[in-house]
Amino acid sequence: MVEPGRMNAGPDYADLHRHLGGAVHPKVLHGFLVKGGPDLGLSSVERETIRSLLERFPTYAALKSHFAGRKHTLEDYLELHKLVEPLQTPATMAYFLYRIIRGARVFESTSLLELRFSPYLRTCPALDSSARMAAMEDVVESIAAGARVPDYAVDVRFVLCLHTALRDDVNSATLDLALRRRDLIRGIDVAGPEKPFGQRLDFFLSLFKRAADSYLPATAHIGETSPEHIHPEFFPYLRRIGHGVQIPLHRPDLLPEMHRRGICFELCPSTYLHTGTFVNLAPVRECTRLLEAEGIDYCFCTDNPAFNGRYLQGEHELALENDLIKFRGLARCQRNAFAHAF
Ligand SMILES: [Zn+2]
Repeated sequence: MVEPGRMNAGPDYADLHRHLGGAVHPKVLHGFLVKGGPDLGLSSVERETIRSLLERFPTYAALKSHFAGRKHTLEDYLELHKLVEPLQTPATMAYFLYRIIRGARVFESTSLLELRFSPYLRTCPALDSSARMAAMEDVVESIAAGARVPDYAVDVRFVLCLHTALRDDVNSATLDLALRRRDLIRGIDVAGPEKPFGQRLDFFLSLFKRAADSYLPATAHIGETSPEHIHPEFFPYLRRIGHGVQIPLHRPDLLPEMHRRGICFELCPSTYLHTGTFVNLAPVRECTRLLEAEGIDYCFCTDNPAFNGRYLQGEHELALENDLIKFRGLARCQRNAFAHAF
């Protein structure tokens, strides 16, 4: 008899948690910088960004090692996004997306890719805040247009990130945009440093309630680095949870509710090593054991493959190597990723 694991571990994968800022392979990014140089920039801000990046990382090796180095905290790790976001403008998105999608198909056998991003952080920083908010829709449209790459047949779906470091009005406008452009946007997330999230729970809850009232799917970065960042009041509004690894480890009493609500965990093992959350993957092994015992779905995702130096197949290999799953579990994770896509 053919075992189900063997039947299902075919070359077809979905990645549900990948940030646009951490999706561009450093080789592609460096190639982009050196090919055009600062003249590539359309605005003085873009030209300055390119010039300073080239000065700081004159070689590919320098850029790669800066990205790949393990950071001490999630906050340090998130700083990497700030290097990349100013380059991801409407004018350049097609260049980057073509290469993201090509890589997903050729190297990751991925046919469904959810990309998440904060549109505000891809508007021109030289504009004032209201002009930047007004420019967010152009950003979304250009990203959606850039992702139409029929050559590689990857179903690319977009999730807008609310952001804990952005003001309330920017986050409200981001949700408005997601609700207005349901033709392009499949769901919302909240990303960024975890502490400020805890200080503005009521505000973010109001946005998640509004999304749920309109049946807009939601996930959220919750319970990633420490148990103090577990916020069960969000569970009624979530279809998935970004990371959540602290929940099985410190609040297993919450798992039955998560099971009842059908919330799927997006686990990104490499990230927990690169942010200094865990020194090894033993806690994630415990996490998958507890999720399985409770019958909760989870899948492995890449989060920021360019920073972690590991793409989707690498995450699966890491999970197998460290006994987070058995081979049959890999097929289950594959199915979960497709089943819980937005
Ligand atoms: Zn993430």
